[in-house]
Amino acid sequence: MISVQNVEKRYGEARAVSDVSFSVQRGEIVGLLGHNGAGKTTVMKVMTGFLEPTSGAVSIDGLDVVRDRVAVQRKIGYLPENAPLYPELQVQEYLRFMADLRGLRGAERARAIDEALEATGLTARRAQVIQTLSKGYRQRVGLAQAILHRPDLLILDEPTNGLDPVQILEIRDLIKRLAARATIILSTHILSEIEAVCDRVVVLIQGELAADAPLSSLVGGGGALLRAQGPTDLAAARRALSSVPSAGEVTLAGREGEALSLRVALKEGGAARAADLAADLAAAAVRAGWRVLSVGPDARSLEDVFRELMRAHASRAAAAPAAAPAAAPAAAPAAAPAAAPSAATPERAPERAKRVGQRSGQSRKERS
Ligand code: ATP
Repeated sequence: MISVQNVEKRYGEARAVSDVSFSVQRGEIVGLLGHNGAGKTTVMKVMTGFLEPTSGAVSIDGLDVVRDRVAVQRKIGYLPENAPLYPELQVQEYLRFMADLRGLRGAERARAIDEALEATGLTARRAQVIQTLSKGYRQRVGLAQAILHRPDLLILDEPTNGLDPVQILEIRDLIKRLAARATIILSTHILSEIEAVCDRVVVLIQGELAADAPLSSLVGGGGALLRAQGPTDLAAARRALSSVPSAGEVTLAGREGEALSLRVALKEGGAARAADLAADLAAAAVRAGWRVLSVGPDARSLEDVFRELMRAHASRAAAAPAAAPAAAPAAAPAAAPAAAPSAATPERAPERAKRVGQRSGQSRKERS
C-alpha cells in the first residue's frame, strides 16, 4: 500500500532524514519509533505530501505523493503533532469547517461528521467549545477531523503526546478501533506505546532507518542467551556450539571480563523450542569445558532492542567518514536508557531486525 523509497530530506545543509526506505501493507498498525529529533515528523510530512523530499519518493496505492499530491491526500487522514484546532469553535463547527475543506457537502457532510463524532466518542460533546475540552478530548477532535473523509490511511504524529495515563489508554483504544477500517502509521518516542498498539515497528535513529520488523520478531527473540566463561572469541564459541542441531546463528551479545554473552537463534524450520535449545547449549558448553554462568530463552524487550540499535548506530557513525551534518539526537525514547558502552557486535541488531522482518509477516490481528 505504501512504499517509502530512499527518502532524504535536508533542511539547508542539515540532513534530517537520509536514505530511509520501508513499506507498509494494508491493515497494519506501524509504529515509527525514534528519539526527539530522529526525523519522525519529517518522514510523516514527506509521506503526506506536506514536504517534498530532497531525494527519493513515496507512493501510496501506486500514486506518487509529489506528483499526485491531491489524490494522495484524499486517501490520507493526518493528525499533525500539534493538531491545528480553532479553540473558540464548537466541536461540530470545527468539524463542519474541516469537512468543507475536504469538499464534503449537505447530507454527506452531516453523515461524515456524525460518524467521526461517534467513532471518537465525541457525540455528547459536539456542541462544546473546543477550548473548554480536556487535552485528551481535544486530541479526539484532532482524530475526528483526520477520519472525516473515511481515509484508507491514518498518519498520526505522536497522538498521545502530553496526555495523562488515562487519556493515553483511551486514545490507544481508539486507535486500535480505528485500525479496523484504516491502515495506521503512528509516531512515538514511547516504547510501551509501540508494544501496546503496533504490529510492526520502523526505528529511526538520527534520520537513518535502524530497523523495520514485525514487533513479534524483534522482541522475545525466539532463541536462547548463554553466558559462559571459556570461549576465547566468537569464532571459538561458534565452533563449540555447532554440534547443537537446533542452534542457528550465534552472535556476540556482550562481554564482561572473561565471560561472553552469546545470543543463539533457533535454527529456521526446526521444531525445537527456545527452552530445549537452551538446555542443549548448556550441555554443549559443559562438554567444551566452559563454565556456564547462565542460560535460558532469549527474552528481549523492545528497550533492549532499541539499546542495541543505538549502539550499532553509534559505532557505524564512528566508523563512517564525515558527511553532511546530521541532526543530533536530543533524547532517547522513553524507557530506553542512553546507550551504555558494551562489546555487543554492533552491526548485528539492524541486520537481524531486517532479517526477521523479512521472515515474519504475522500481524497482531493474526496473533490474537
Ligand atoms: P520529535 O519527537 O522531537 O518531534 P522528530 O523525530 O519528529 O522529533 P523531526 O521533527 O522530523 O524529528 O526533526 C528532525 C531534525 O530536523 C531535527 O534535528 C530538527 O531540528 C530538524 N528540523 C525539523 N524541521 C526543521 C525545519 N523546518 N528547519 C530546520 N530543521 C528542521
